[in-house]
Amino acid sequence: MSEGKSVKRIFAHAGRAGLLLMAVFLVVYLITIVAGSSDFFNESAEKNAVLYFDEDIDRATELAQHHYQNLYKITDRLEYAKSSEDVESIVASYIGSELFGDLRYYSQGKSYAANGVLVEEELSGGGQIEALAASNEAGCTGVYYDKSTQLDCIAFFVPVRGSAYVDGILSIIPARNVINVGEVINEKASVVAIIDYSGKVLSDKRAEGFETSVGNNFYDFLDVLTHGKTDANEVARLVGEREKTACTIDTMGVGYTVAISPLDAFSNNIVLISMSVSEGLIAPELTYIRHIVNLLAIAIIALIVGFVFSMLYQRKAKEAISIATLVDPLLECPNIEQFRRTAKSLMLSPKRRYSVCVFSIKNFMYLEEQLGDGSVIELLKFIAKIMDSFSTAEECYGYAGDGKFVLLVLNANSHSLKDKIKLIRTVSNRNDLLKERGIKLRYDVGVCNAFEARRRTVQELIERANVACGYAENDLKNPYTLFTEEVRKEIAHEEQIEAQMESALANREFRLFLQPKYNVHNDRIDSAEALVRWFDPRKGDYRFPGEFIPLFETNGFIVKLDHFVYIEVLEYLSNAAARGEKVVPVSVNVSRVTASQDDFLNFYIGNKKKYRIPDGFITVELTESFAMEDYDKIFNIVDMLHKNGMLCSIDDFGSGYSSFNILKQITVDELKLDSVFTKRGADVARDNKLLSTIIDLAKSMGMMVVQEGVETKEVFDKVIDMGCDVIQGYYYAKAISVEEFKIFVNSNTSIKYKSLVK
Ligand code: C2E
Ligand code: CA
Ligand code: CA
Repeated sequence: MSEGKSVKRIFAHAGRAGLLLMAVFLVVYLITIVAGSSDFFNESAEKNAVLYFDEDIDRATELAQHHYQNLYKITDRLEYAKSSEDVESIVASYIGSELFGDLRYYSQGKSYAANGVLVEEELSGGGQIEALAASNEAGCTGVYYDKSTQLDCIAFFVPVRGSAYVDGILSIIPARNVINVGEVINEKASVVAIIDYSGKVLSDKRAEGFETSVGNNFYDFLDVLTHGKTDANEVARLVGEREKTACTIDTMGVGYTVAISPLDAFSNNIVLISMSVSEGLIAPELTYIRHIVNLLAIAIIALIVGFVFSMLYQRKAKEAISIATLVDPLLECPNIEQFRRTAKSLMLSPKRRYSVCVFSIKNFMYLEEQLGDGSVIELLKFIAKIMDSFSTAEECYGYAGDGKFVLLVLNANSHSLKDKIKLIRTVSNRNDLLKERGIKLRYDVGVCNAFEARRRTVQELIERANVACGYAENDLKNPYTLFTEEVRKEIAHEEQIEAQMESALANREFRLFLQPKYNVHNDRIDSAEALVRWFDPRKGDYRFPGEFIPLFETNGFIVKLDHFVYIEVLEYLSNAAARGEKVVPVSVNVSRVTASQDDFLNFYIGNKKKYRIPDGFITVELTESFAMEDYDKIFNIVDMLHKNGMLCSIDDFGSGYSSFNILKQITVDELKLDSVFTKRGADVARDNKLLSTIIDLAKSMGMMVVQEGVETKEVFDKVIDMGCDVIQGYYYAKAISVEEFKIFVNSNTSIKYKSLVK
């Protein structure tokens, strides 16, 4: 990785980390605000609770005062009592009143019931009452359990001053009768209770669903309500402090404000307690603010969540795109990019002997032409499946386009590799489409051994296998071509040629050679084919087209060379004619690259006119493969050439995917049969039959039939027998320089006089 890139990466990481930190801070900050605000709102609720509660305390205190006042009415009357009997009858007149409970009177330190009977046994908590009586002050006891009534009671004592018959009266009354909380409470409270310090409920009022009740323990009730949370203890602790206070408890998500206060008017051992929903206690304007704060918090959290999701989504989208770029869209199999990646990671394991193989379908363009687009894709998909089934977990494959598959295979030894490649070829032909059309699929296979080419990138290995594939002429015996030292030299050689070609053209190192064509019917040479030679002064010898033409076809230099050869031919013809020498028609080779140029027709037709070459003296040789390419295009070319007095020939017929269709569709003047027909095949009878069929067909369409590559008398006789019109081959003459050709053509050119050059 370059320094620049790594710095960029560090920045990207730092940026991401920064964003994350910011988000975390924001959330924490929000939580503190919300928590803080909730404290703030709780406090506000508690304050309000205490405010309402104060009123409740006042009312409770008033109730106590009220009780004293009722008792004062009795003591007012008792002051005027004239005898003990008077006392008894006054007290007895109040007996049975709900207001006073159990009434007694005190006289000289002794306690008497209303009927004057001395009360012998001590009251529970009686010590407290005796102390009250002795103090000669009005007062009450705390709540105590009264044995005779079996209730929690309070005893109120009011003295009667200045009477000889009575010291004071005592009212023993159930606590709940004194302070009926029903009368006390504000409506906001859900529960109000009077409890003692142990938590026992003396009187209560509750809203529906709150299960406290008199006699039960208020803290137990809280425990149930808060599901055993610590709130009950907290309330108990606050109650124990014996001060007016408030706190907040939480039950099932509802916040309650609990207000607590000891009731001083009742000698400090009862506590008034109220529980109200906090929300209801908060001032309405504060409630709004609280909602706004909550909404803001939700909005910001939603934003953050959305942001995180969109980041994740973007990452997913990126992944999806990168996956899409790794799959061939038509074949739905790994593409070359995916192959590179997978191969790279597989090859990290140093012990494996890997080879990169390029499988190139031979004559793929013809196949596309013959099968049509849809079927070709079906076929490629079929092959992709085969490649897939032939790749183990440690191997991989990819489609590189143009009928080429790349395979990374474990190469145990060259035999196993050969077998595998043969098998792939065999299985590839088990395809219905191919069978239906009678097509045999063949591959050129180039192999580069990764274990021999150390420290090469996958791309370099693919390129090398591809180069080997370009040199491949594979068959069953020799199923693949290995990228070797020779291949590497070959590449170096090509690079050298490319470096020299322009200057070679300028320096006229390319020379025109002509190969005579023998006309069977006239028994003489009456035409020739222009073939180029490169005289290399550095070598002191000729280079032949096979060494440079395929390269020039790939780098485009062939256009310049074809034009050069054509002009040489035109000059030779026009000069010779001008000098009154004998001339014969000449064929020129036109590469598919040259014929595809926009100015092709202009150049060839224009120059023919310019050099004033008579009609019928130039034949353009187009290759069979080009003729297959585009019927409309080829039709137009042939038509225009004909209109301008030029002839057309189809070269190399039978070398590729021969199609008889082109013979029917394009009216060319000459058909040149490839030299494959001169070679002895496995099935001689069948080959001969095919050859004579082609010759008959071509002739029936008015074409001249030329057989190339005739080297022996045997072949010569055979093709003449079959009806060939023209013979071109070493049997008669090789390509010779223009000077030699001039001599040759002006001498007797009958077959009886063999070539000067053999
Ligand atoms: P081609 O057009 O098929 O030319 C015939 C080739 O067969 C020539 O090879 C010729 O020398 C060779 N030949 C002729 N008779 C015999 C024979 O009896 N036995 C054998 N073994 N070979 C024979 P050459 O000159 O090496 O050219 C090879 C190919 O290079 C040509 O094949 C043609 O396709 C191409 N070529 C040559 N000159 C030009 C040119 O000016 N322009 C273009 N585009 N291609 C050219
Ligand atoms: Ca030719
Ligand atoms: Ca040929």
